Amino acid sequence: MTTRQPLLTLNDGHTAPQLGFGVWQIDDSVATESVAKAIQTGYRSVDTAAIYGNEKGTGEGLRRGGVPREEIFLTTKLWNADQGFDNTLRAFDKSLKLLGTDYVDMYLIHWPMPAKGTYVDTFKAMIRLREEGRIRSVGVSNFNPAHLDHLIAETGVTPVVNQIELHPDFQQDNVVKHHREKNIVTEAWSPLGQGGDLLKHPVLVEISKAHGKSVAQVILRWHLQTGHMVIPKSQTPARIEENFDVFDFLLSTADLGKIAALDAGHRIGPNPDTLN
Ligand code: NAD
Repeated sequence: MTTRQPLLTLNDGHTAPQLGFGVWQIDDSVATESVAKAIQTGYRSVDTAAIYGNEKGTGEGLRRGGVPREEIFLTTKLWNADQGFDNTLRAFDKSLKLLGTDYVDMYLIHWPMPAKGTYVDTFKAMIRLREEGRIRSVGVSNFNPAHLDHLIAETGVTPVVNQIELHPDFQQDNVVKHHREKNIVTEAWSPLGQGGDLLKHPVLVEISKAHGKSVAQVILRWHLQTGHMVIPKSQTPARIEENFDVFDFLLSTADLGKIAALDAGHRIGPNPDTLN
C-alpha cells in the first residue's frame, strides 16, 4: 500500500516520513496491537525507546502490521544510564534483540546528561554502529544548541534529528533556528501537549471548527506545515486514525500566525540542562 504522507530528507541522504507514531506510556502488552493498528492505518514511522519498556511489543506490532521491514522507519533511543562507548554498544544489541530486527533506521541519544560528560563517546559508538550498517541514521534528543555544537565539533558528524519537546505553547524558536542553520530536522515530542488543556484552547478550537477538523488534527497540521517531524501517541484506535488523517487540508498563513502567537514557554518535561 502506498501512502500519501510527506517525507523529509535527512542530512545523511536518508528519507523519513514526517509523521510517525510515538509509543511512550504504551504498555509492552498493548504496544503490539497499537503499533499494528498504526501500520495498518498507514503510519510508516514508529518511535520507541529502551526506557519505554515496549521494544519487544513494538517489534512484534511492526511484524503484525504486515508491511515489509524496509518500508518502515524505526527509531529507538539509548537510555541515560547506558551512555559511554562500550555501554552504548551493549545497550544497542539489547534493543535490537528486543525489537527483533537487524537494524534500526534511527538511533537517538535520549538525553544529553551534560554533567556526566559522556554524550560524545556515546555518539562515537553510534557512528561505529552506523558504519557497521546496524543503524541507518544517528540522531539525538533533548539537546540544546550548545550540546549540539559540542557534539558536532568533537565528532565531525551532525545528528540528522534533534527530538525535542515542542507544542504550540512551547515552540522553542531558538533551538529550531539553530537546527535550520545546521541542517538538523526538528522532531517534536509531546506534539499535542500530552493531550491536556491545549486541546481546549479557544484559538485552536476556532481554527478547528473553520476547517471541520479536530484540534489535535489542527496541531499536527501546524507541525507538518512548520516543517517538524512529529510523532503523536495514542492507543485508542479511532485517535490513531484521526492523527493520521491530516493530509487533506491546509492551514492558512493567518492560521499559522495565530498558532505561532500561542507560544507561552510552557515546558511539560524536564529541562535538558539540569537533568543529569
Ligand atoms: P502527545 O503530545 O503525543 O499526546 C498523547 C496524548 O494525547 C494521548 O495519550 C492522549 O491522551 C491524547 N491524544 C492523542 N491523540 C488525541 C486525539 N486525536 N484527540 C484527543 N486526545 C488525543 O504526547 P507524548 O506521548 O508525550 O509524545 C509523543 C511521543 O513523543 C511519545 O509517545 C514518544 O514516542 C515521544 N517522546 C519523546 C520524549 C523524549 O524525551 N525524547 C519525551 C516524551 C515523548
